[in-house]
Amino acid sequence: MAKIGINIATGSIQKEDAIVGIDLGTTNSLVAIVREDSRQAIALKEIDGMSLVPSVVFFDEQNQAQVGTAALEKLLSHPERTIYSAKRLMGKSYKDLSQDSHFFAYKIHDDATDALVKVQIDDQFYSPIELSSLILKELKSRAEHVLKMPVNRAVITVPAYFNDTQRQATRDAGKLAGLDVLRIVNEPTAASLAYGIGLDPNEEKTVAVYDLGGGTFDVSILKINQGIFEVLATNGDTYLGGDDLDRALVVYWKEQLEKAGIACDHSSILQQLRLSAEQAKKELSSASTASTIIAGQTLNIDIETFEGLIQPLINRTLQSCQQALQDAQLRIDQIDSVIMVGGSTRVPAVKNSVRDFFKNEVNDSLNPDEVVALGAAIQADILAGNNTDMLLLDITPLSLGIETLGGLMDVLIPRNAKIPNKAGRQYTTSQDGQSNLLINVYQGERDQVAHNRKLASFSLRNIPAMPAGLPKIDIQFLLDADGILKVSATELRSGLAQEISIKAQYGLDDSMVEQMLLDSLTHAKDDMQMRALIEASTEAEQMISTTEKFLSKYAEAINKEELEQTNIQIEQLKNRIALKDKDGIQKNTELLNEITRPFAERVMDIALKDAMSGKKIL
Ligand code: ADP
Ligand code: MG
Repeated sequence: MAKIGINIATGSIQKEDAIVGIDLGTTNSLVAIVREDSRQAIALKEIDGMSLVPSVVFFDEQNQAQVGTAALEKLLSHPERTIYSAKRLMGKSYKDLSQDSHFFAYKIHDDATDALVKVQIDDQFYSPIELSSLILKELKSRAEHVLKMPVNRAVITVPAYFNDTQRQATRDAGKLAGLDVLRIVNEPTAASLAYGIGLDPNEEKTVAVYDLGGGTFDVSILKINQGIFEVLATNGDTYLGGDDLDRALVVYWKEQLEKAGIACDHSSILQQLRLSAEQAKKELSSASTASTIIAGQTLNIDIETFEGLIQPLINRTLQSCQQALQDAQLRIDQIDSVIMVGGSTRVPAVKNSVRDFFKNEVNDSLNPDEVVALGAAIQADILAGNNTDMLLLDITPLSLGIETLGGLMDVLIPRNAKIPNKAGRQYTTSQDGQSNLLINVYQGERDQVAHNRKLASFSLRNIPAMPAGLPKIDIQFLLDADGILKVSATELRSGLAQEISIKAQYGLDDSMVEQMLLDSLTHAKDDMQMRALIEASTEAEQMISTTEKFLSKYAEAINKEELEQTNIQIEQLKNRIALKDKDGIQKNTELLNEITRPFAERVMDIALKDAMSGKKIL
């Protein structure tokens, strides 16, 4: 199967490109690749030697975004325009966050009509997906700069506890950044891969991944068997991380300053304290003392005192580890390896405490703030087919589906699905007594089949006469290991069946696939609106036709007033359809539905009820 890439920035299509691994972190993000020559995973560094990009976005007065270190610097001067921790907002509704809103210095929009949160700056609203996509875009362009080649495909990591909505949001952010997200991988899985755990298909292992980042703590217990990673348990604290270690030192130094008669309520002093504390904390990871000067006062800290300050925080992480083990129903001695992840595991007291807790050596030879990205790069390399020792499943380059009423594409096997694959769905007819059903099979990403590529069409003939909506037509797609698609249609009530084989790739070269993908990206928004309108109109037209049929057939079942009301609603709905007013169509369809529901109940006409539901083919 073809694997292709599009450079969204230039609109050009690229054959040769790199597949990268991305750790999209709460505090810091970074990109890694597997080097072609040495086959080693490395984090990409800009000339400044930095691999980490702070996950911060700043918007200036013109709504121009800055990302990374430049944005981080704005946190002090423009807190209301500087977004940090966007990852905490991914896939969240305002309700989900109501407990945490004090954490954010920027404005989280509370919109009762919109389920997912947005961040407000001036009169602009930004979704967490957009914010994350800006970070991903920055990472993509950095990687392109360092590698001097286009970067279009990526593996992105997420916490093991992320739900489907959060994972989908991460995928969407990637797509918005012009990245083809080949896979979303759990952070602890990536960390294990970086240490080579899980690469040997014959290996069976249970590992604990301890991840203490900037603002969050996660522990995951994974079981690895034949290259499959199973998450047995996760635990942690979404508000416990390196920032809290800094805060412990800030409190300690603040007392000293106040004892010396220096007032600390000024925000610039507090800010200096915070930055110096983080600096000192980092120094203490490799030295026994650290100091700073604030407001002319020298402040000291030695390692023993610091460890005393932070031990209660470390103990909280160990309690989470205890809980995770309990949930996984494992004893400490059943954990084969412990992996250290996150910048804060550089703190020696953290390392020692974890070692003592698990009564085991810990894996800490790799850079703990790069290890997740390194693992993502290894996964990307496997998907690219470079690592031939690993089993690689092929994927479909374009979605496969059939045409439904209104000329819409109904996808059965989505793009990037594994090959071989199987999918099925039930459909019905749109006309009374319809005896032939035309099944049009398409390939492509657009919502309207007219923009996609027709692969084949065949008819299911001699369907016994039934009212519209009554036949149950089961369509099955079977994509075999060679990329051959078999489509079968069976009318379940009569058992009538028909089948066709299609070579899905036939006649479609890489550049055509690329062009189709590019189109789907550029038209994504229009397509979505168009699909919503077509769906609403189709449903409304069905509703009108069913109602009209009903009125003529069961005139005696309804009174004059009801008839008048119904006709008015039908007229209004027709107007809305003519105006292409999607919201109006939906509202009036609902109204018509409400008015006519009692009639249907009165007559108990099964055909009518059935006709009102179910997707219809031509
Ligand atoms: P996240 O996964 O949340 O994006 P990271 O893994 O990048 O975060 O960790 C960031 C945290 O690591 C920060 O709190 C930072 O202060 C801390 N950190 C980085 N280097 C060191 C060090 N040498 N010693 C102690 N803490 C460190
Ligand atoms: Mg992290």
